[in-house]
Amino acid sequence: MRESVYMRVHVYILVIYFSIWLHRPTLRDKSDLYYMLPGWILFFVPSRFFDCSVSGCERPSVRANGGCDSCSRHLCLAHLSPCLHTCDEVLDDATYESQITAEINRLRSLINDVAVCQLASRLNGGTNCKIEHSSKVGPSALMGSANYHACIRFQDGSPSWLLRVPRVTSCAVGLPITLADYLIASEYATLKFLEATSVPAPRAFSYGVCSNGTDHGVGVAFLLMEELPGRPWAGEGVAGTMATDEEKVRIWSELADILAELERHPFPKAGSLCFQSSNVEVSAVASDRFGVLTPYGPFHNSAAYYTAFAEQYLELIADGQLYTEFPVDAYLVYRFLKDNVSQIAEQGGETKSPEKFFLKHVDDKGDHLLVDDDLHITGIIDWQMARVVPRREAFGPSLVTADMDALCTGKVSFSADDIALADTLQQKGRSSMTSCVVDEKARRFFWGLALESEWSDAFPLATAILEAFGIRQDWAQWREMELKEYESDERLKGLVQHCRP
Ligand SMILES: [Zn+2]
Ligand SMILES: [Zn+2]
Repeated sequence: MRESVYMRVHVYILVIYFSIWLHRPTLRDKSDLYYMLPGWILFFVPSRFFDCSVSGCERPSVRANGGCDSCSRHLCLAHLSPCLHTCDEVLDDATYESQITAEINRLRSLINDVAVCQLASRLNGGTNCKIEHSSKVGPSALMGSANYHACIRFQDGSPSWLLRVPRVTSCAVGLPITLADYLIASEYATLKFLEATSVPAPRAFSYGVCSNGTDHGVGVAFLLMEELPGRPWAGEGVAGTMATDEEKVRIWSELADILAELERHPFPKAGSLCFQSSNVEVSAVASDRFGVLTPYGPFHNSAAYYTAFAEQYLELIADGQLYTEFPVDAYLVYRFLKDNVSQIAEQGGETKSPEKFFLKHVDDKGDHLLVDDDLHITGIIDWQMARVVPRREAFGPSLVTADMDALCTGKVSFSADDIALADTLQQKGRSSMTSCVVDEKARRFFWGLALESEWSDAFPLATAILEAFGIRQDWAQWREMELKEYESDERLKGLVQHCRP
């Protein structure tokens, strides 16, 4: 086992040296290593995020739910069982907060503040600056579910910057360093691409990852970017209560203009943006909004893109890395999605021109929009995991206009906001985009079973997927039929045997 790991490391090193040798005519200095990064990083992203921490166990840790900050371990499906893992499942507020504080302290101890300030000063005309870490933790302290932020304040009063650092020191967040590196590299490229458009996004000034020594001495993977004015929009109006329909129309109108701008910049492939030889190119898809997928792709057609998404879920379910509480049901749902990609993929034909793909913010729940006091959009933030997607996914119903209650409880329908945004696009003459608002299939496809850990919560999502894709049978009947239809599927057979009492 150990020998095979050494062998793999040696092969990696040889490939890296060979890669540098191949690029030697174009390598001007060490900074050019940035542009070779995505390929390198992807080479290191393993088929499992973490190994089980229990000594002697060779299983992969469960993604998303397998990390525990109480015992600081990553656990496999067997060692997560209540008889073997006895940490409290639900933490009281004080314990939860103290765990996050400890995690952020660990992360901050890795960050070299002096190196951050030296880099920021150098990039901002030599202006002195200081780094400001919040004394609190949590959402009020600029902290996201996957990233920590600190402010960079400049002495000359010029606009502040943000240091964005993936939360890789938490077992519960469960973000492997290799994936964090790729997400940072991809987000940087995405922001650089957006700088050349009229989409209001933060300017990116620098980034670094540790895996190849391009972290400028900062000690962690990071992104340095502009701090935009405005507050995250949570659906409220000018008065602070729920936005009125008129107020929402103001938001939809500005969002429609932003979507129209994104439509002006088509790409030939589906994936996520990365630098390749100093150009921003479409590279592997940077995980998904739940952060559980290994980067995959890119793809030249939407059918391959949708198929690969469902297939990776199937692989992870079969390998005990996802949906370990109800693997057979989850497998059947993603198998169904994989077999029904033709319902959302663009249909090819001999006379058809090549498909076009468009940049999409995939975690667009509303709080990605920053607004001012008059509800004008001042910026769109958090482009991590953004991807270049087929037209129908790019401009069809998304999370920003979803009725989240309906989405999570399995009610299949357009929301009032879906219709309002589509109407706004129509009024602006964007019929190419309103034609994407045909059904909820793409939104349901990517929402999937939403990493629910209990079947009772996943069940309405599963039945909503069937309903959205035109199945009229009830779940029990459909399940029975599918088990029969796929009885020769080896992965399904393995799961069924494993789950048999
Ligand atoms: Zn534990
Ligand atoms: Zn284990």
